[in-house]
Amino acid sequence: MNNCLFCKIVNHDIPSAIIYEDDIMMAFLDISQTTKGHTLLIPKAHFKNVYEIDSEIISHIHKQIPNLAKAITKAFKANGINIVNNNGEISGQTIFHYHVHLIPRYKEKEGFSIIYKNNMDKYSKEDLDDIAAIIKETLINIE
Ligand code: AMP
Ligand code: ZN
Repeated sequence: MNNCLFCKIVNHDIPSAIIYEDDIMMAFLDISQTTKGHTLLIPKAHFKNVYEIDSEIISHIHKQIPNLAKAITKAFKANGINIVNNNGEISGQTIFHYHVHLIPRYKEKEGFSIIYKNNMDKYSKEDLDDIAAIIKETLINIE
């Protein structure tokens, strides 16, 4: 945890452009500015990702999303916003302190995209029911 970049930002050991801060969370500009206004929301306490974060804390962070999204969008007249959260290396997470990206969108090609491949031809209704049943069964045993 001591070596965590975002913990250093929380402790003001590394400077950041802070938009919002309270006892539980911070919102600050992502240094990469994929698009103008690209913002990160983080808990002040260190949680690696969605698998570890406390549910009260994630709720507190996510409660701020609508107003922050509206402010970022209004401030720079964006046309929409992507809200992204990567968990695990395979998903693209590079900093292992839970964070949510707010990425305002101005036009189609601006260095950010998400592609959802459509595989519906490979799954029957029965396959979907089986998948849902397995997840449902697993959910019962999640704390
Ligand atoms: P992810 O790839 O989802 O883990 O996102 C990590 C994000 O942290 C990237 O978008 C980086 O640009 C951003 N980042 C890295 N270092 C800093 C920093 N010092 N201040 C603000 N954002 C940072
Ligand atoms: Zn951390």
